[in-house]
Amino acid sequence: MKKLRLAGGQVITPLEVRFADILIEGGLITAIVPQEQTTPAYENLDVSGRLVTPGLIDLQLNGGPALDFWGKPTEKELEKFTREQAVAGVTTFLPTLITAAIDHLVANIEWLNKHGLNSDLSLAKGLSARMPGIHLEGPCLSSKRPGVHPPEHLQPFSVDVLKRLIMPGVLLMTMAPELDPNAEALQYLQSNGVVASLGHSNATLQDARKAFDAGVRMMTHTFNAMAPLHHRDPGAVGAALMDDRVSCCLIADGLHLAPETVSLILRLKGPRKAILVTDAAKIGTTGGGLVGSSIHLADAVRNCVQWQSASFQNVVRMASYNPARAMGLDEKVGHIEVGKFADLVVWNPCDFSVEQVIVDGQILATDEKTVGTAAKTGK
Ligand SMILES: [Zn+2]
Repeated sequence: MKKLRLAGGQVITPLEVRFADILIEGGLITAIVPQEQTTPAYENLDVSGRLVTPGLIDLQLNGGPALDFWGKPTEKELEKFTREQAVAGVTTFLPTLITAAIDHLVANIEWLNKHGLNSDLSLAKGLSARMPGIHLEGPCLSSKRPGVHPPEHLQPFSVDVLKRLIMPGVLLMTMAPELDPNAEALQYLQSNGVVASLGHSNATLQDARKAFDAGVRMMTHTFNAMAPLHHRDPGAVGAALMDDRVSCCLIADGLHLAPETVSLILRLKGPRKAILVTDAAKIGTTGGGLVGSSIHLADAVRNCVQWQSASFQNVVRMASYNPARAMGLDEKVGHIEVGKFADLVVWNPCDFSVEQVIVDGQILATDEKTVGTAAKTGK
């Protein structure tokens, strides 16, 4: 496998910002060296004047124009979808399944296990982004806060339901903890290695505190599909914003949350306990409703920077290192460090657009349209 040197860029990690070159071999970052050194055996990728960050990680991705994880995706659609995500800077994501009949969910989990899901984060053949596991958003959700989830398929948050659903490949589950007052289902989830996230829930402040004390450390699309923050009744949102153990996931598309609300969450949670997700879906925001979003994670990063909600370094942290940590994947992704996978994004520092993406040490073409056109012309 070829050796690559990313030369001349400004390297941005959760811990520091510095001018350094990144050496890559065998798909891994092998060294981070001063820029005056030379390494003749390496292919040089000149990223002078550019920002280099870890590849982005989206914990809530329902699909996009190319594919719908809720339906019956095909292998071809999955290949196209992961390519689009990677080209847009998302090098790791959790395919997300919303509430459906349990048999349908089980079939889709099995299909994903056969088509590229790898708990060790290895990249499946033909795919351009890593899929370490599934986010089950439902079906154990509150009938009072279903959003677009079909109410006829909502299930109790019980051990019986989880016994049918929790199988290898499930990494994260959004659930309504108030449906499980003795925390038995929550305990079952956690003992099976699944991260629990409070969402689509009508939990009160007390319900949420109880869940956080029982080990819940995440809130799904904070403010959306839960009781609003009221000055006399702060609810689950108030509990999450006040609890330093809890990471708040947020959809920074300007529609699910006002820019000021994003800034408010980030001021309260700080750069360590906020996670950007897209909740992107095939239907997205078209058609007037909020059926997930229509953005890529890089758009969310750009939005937060332009809204001045946080610095670029901190925003990138919320879209790479923080989600990796929350899922226990930070040994391999989410950071620029020796030994980590060489999944990197090269950004334009003026408009924060994604210029180049490296996955597993391979440079992707960022303008797939140009690539397509060139191929056509060559025929
Ligand atoms: Zn949702």
